[in-house]
Amino acid sequence: MGSFAALIVAGGSGSRFGGSVPKQYETLGRLPIIRRAVNAFLAAKDCCALQVVIGAGQEVHYASAMRGLDALPPVPGGETRQESVRRGLDALSPHAPEFVLIHDAARPLVSSDIIASVAAVLKQGAEAVVPLLPVSDSLRQMNGGLVGDAIPRDWVCRVQTPQGFLYAGIREAHARFAGGGATDDIALAERAGMKIIAVAGEEANIKVTTESDLAFAERLVGGKADIRTGGGFDVHRFTAGDHVWLCGIRIPHACGLEGHSDADAGLHALTDAILGAVAAGDIGQHFPPSDPKWKHAASRLFLAHAAELVKQRGGTILHCDITIICEAPKIGPHRGAMRASVAEILELDIGRVSVKATTTEGLGFTGRSEGLAAQATATIRLPT
Ligand code: MG
Repeated sequence: MGSFAALIVAGGSGSRFGGSVPKQYETLGRLPIIRRAVNAFLAAKDCCALQVVIGAGQEVHYASAMRGLDALPPVPGGETRQESVRRGLDALSPHAPEFVLIHDAARPLVSSDIIASVAAVLKQGAEAVVPLLPVSDSLRQMNGGLVGDAIPRDWVCRVQTPQGFLYAGIREAHARFAGGGATDDIALAERAGMKIIAVAGEEANIKVTTESDLAFAERLVGGKADIRTGGGFDVHRFTAGDHVWLCGIRIPHACGLEGHSDADAGLHALTDAILGAVAAGDIGQHFPPSDPKWKHAASRLFLAHAAELVKQRGGTILHCDITIICEAPKIGPHRGAMRASVAEILELDIGRVSVKATTTEGLGFTGRSEGLAAQATATIRLPT
């Protein structure tokens, strides 16, 4: 034995900007906050059952955030956190776990190390285990808005979850002290006279309650991202006409460009660069020139499709860089419009879009103005 059940408390109803989605269902690095917390426990080899307690009316949010995960059916929470935990503990009784780890869904960055260390101390015979962190800032009392006396730092510490217990012991404490307003389970363990053992908490195991917490958590998650760069290259031949399309901009010219679509080599090269970054084939695979559907198509559709594939993977386009290779038309006068056009299609800040131009000094097919070429790179971030 020695396995534990995980009880995740997700009953909060607080939302951002007064929106309708409670915070624990908001995304962090493209994954719902609650899903990140749950994943950490499901990955632990000794976790035998996982129960989530949710708030009233959160069933739809829950189903969407937890799709495909191996959890017990959610239990509706109560008026208080304490009551919610009690209901979750009751729901676990058919599984008769030896230990239970109780965790707040609002701590999505809980690590496998902290879960393992809480579980290990329980297995050594502890009744109750709590992760604690020291306080590094100086502390002061506040007296009616005024700065009061200093509080010695070694008098206080920060309390985190998961908190671990003998299942039977904490269930009994919840039954005995039902109706109270305990803000965590260690408080009840203390009232029940259990001996509480501390383990080291982690700075990254933050509770996401404010906008700035979420921004901080995003930075922590982003630091672990999978960053990739893809490259693309395209050529189109000059033909009779009076304009060319480049990076979504119509540029008057002494001739046109030949192609099945609008022959926008800049957008084609960039589309291939993005497809390359997610290893999703090439533009010809997604939009075969043999398909009459794409005749005279605006190439912005191709680029938007590639961007959508990145989005579906939970990724973000960080930067793109396009180089147009030709003797004419002159690119400089249109550079700003071309950058703005690509930024608009990719929903990017224009500062993340670069458009450059060069010639081949009269050499080769571009030097002889038989056609023009474009090459591009795209850098993206995918979730790990
Ligand atoms: Mg092309």
